[in-house]
Amino acid sequence: MTPTLTSPPLPATSPAEKLMLAGVAGGLLALLLAWADADPGRRNTWFWLAIGLVSAGTLAWSWLKFGRHPAGVQQNNLWLRSSTGRGAVGWITGLVLTGFYVVLYWFSNGDNQGNFGLLSNLIHPLDSFSQWLRAKPADQWFLYGTFYTLAVLVMGGRALWKYRHSRYQVIRTLSVMFFQLGFSFLIPGLLQFFQKPEFYFNYFWPLHYQYLWPNDVHDLLKNGQALGVFMVFWGAVMSFVATPVLTYFYGKRWYCSWVCGCGGLAETAGDPYRQLSDKSRTAWRWEVRIVYTVLGLIIAITALLWVHFATGGALLGEVGNAAAKWYGFAIGSVFSGVIGVGFYPIMGSRVWCRFGCPMAAYLGLLQKHFSRFRISTNGAQCISCGNCSNVCEMGIDVQQYAQRGAPIIRASCVGCGMCSTACPRGVLNLENGPREGRYQASQLIHADSLRILS
Ligand code: SF4
Ligand code: SF4
Repeated sequence: MTPTLTSPPLPATSPAEKLMLAGVAGGLLALLLAWADADPGRRNTWFWLAIGLVSAGTLAWSWLKFGRHPAGVQQNNLWLRSSTGRGAVGWITGLVLTGFYVVLYWFSNGDNQGNFGLLSNLIHPLDSFSQWLRAKPADQWFLYGTFYTLAVLVMGGRALWKYRHSRYQVIRTLSVMFFQLGFSFLIPGLLQFFQKPEFYFNYFWPLHYQYLWPNDVHDLLKNGQALGVFMVFWGAVMSFVATPVLTYFYGKRWYCSWVCGCGGLAETAGDPYRQLSDKSRTAWRWEVRIVYTVLGLIIAITALLWVHFATGGALLGEVGNAAAKWYGFAIGSVFSGVIGVGFYPIMGSRVWCRFGCPMAAYLGLLQKHFSRFRISTNGAQCISCGNCSNVCEMGIDVQQYAQRGAPIIRASCVGCGMCSTACPRGVLNLENGPREGRYQASQLIHADSLRILS
């Protein structure tokens, strides 16, 4: 008789943890009731109750789960749990997230009468808060910004408990929480309060592509007075001067893992799903093909728009505008939002950063060819446990490099440092060293076995 293999049972969840998880579930139920309730008073109560229960429940559960246990990265049972191992809970979470993005982008446009389609009942409870911050009622993007910021802060709290033994991770987590709250939420809100252009100082072209498109530049210069001139100047300097200089010294991590809002969400709310990134060479090939194509597209579209602007449309007609519209739909909405976040529980937390983000592609080229950053590896100490590869959200098979003692200089590495934090043998070290010798050992790997462009 052939013996059957069965998975070991998952460790029991303590009653206190169950209570906190029940609180989170109650919060989600309250959100559903807010969405469905026609009475404005009750709807607002349900909404704020939901925010309180989900936030407090998640933070308390994180403390019970991580804060009360010895510090250190534990990857036990990640692939056995339904929520983090592409089980039923993961698929349902992915469907709900994807559905939310679809409704947000295409079924919640305001009609100037305060009606926001399917999201109206979730937007109006935020009216007073929006009035206080931005001097105008809430809309679908304010709801999105609030949820997004809350997710980064609450799940950032979870990350702080979980990785409290690593100074690098603690400071990095605080950094993404700070930039999301300050630069992506409060400052743009206050700018609107003072009737200035809404501007995100932590997003630059080519990620926030409109900032160097002629219409936006023209509007900022025309309506923004001195501040508008500064915003255009800031955007151009950050894209073409600060980005190469900072990437030369620190690699792309200064942006992707410390400043960017997309990276901030991935590192906090997406942390439970980081192991789901595909480490196969096929995925690596598609990554290279797609991400550099997106970068090429945005450069071409930006050039077309400026030609259109300079010639008054005489030379190429509406080609640039049509391409810009298509890019906004296909890349700006579908790829970065619906797929980029909606697919967290299925494809991992950095689908957008890895396969679609033109800023990551630009930073990656700089990191690979003009940077001092690398992850050095002490191969003699490696015990081939695979922890490093498992936690790599960018799908890099870190263990392969470690076993050979080769430095990691992959264009896609966002320098999150999680491989180093998770390594039980101290094999991996994030460094900004001299460029000499940077490629030697890794060239062996590339020639020997990987044979793929990065
Ligand atoms: S190789 Fe390490 S530092 Fe780079 S993205 Fe992967 S886990 Fe993060
Ligand atoms: S580098 Fe560290 S985490 Fe990676 S396989 Fe070797 S011992 Fe394990």
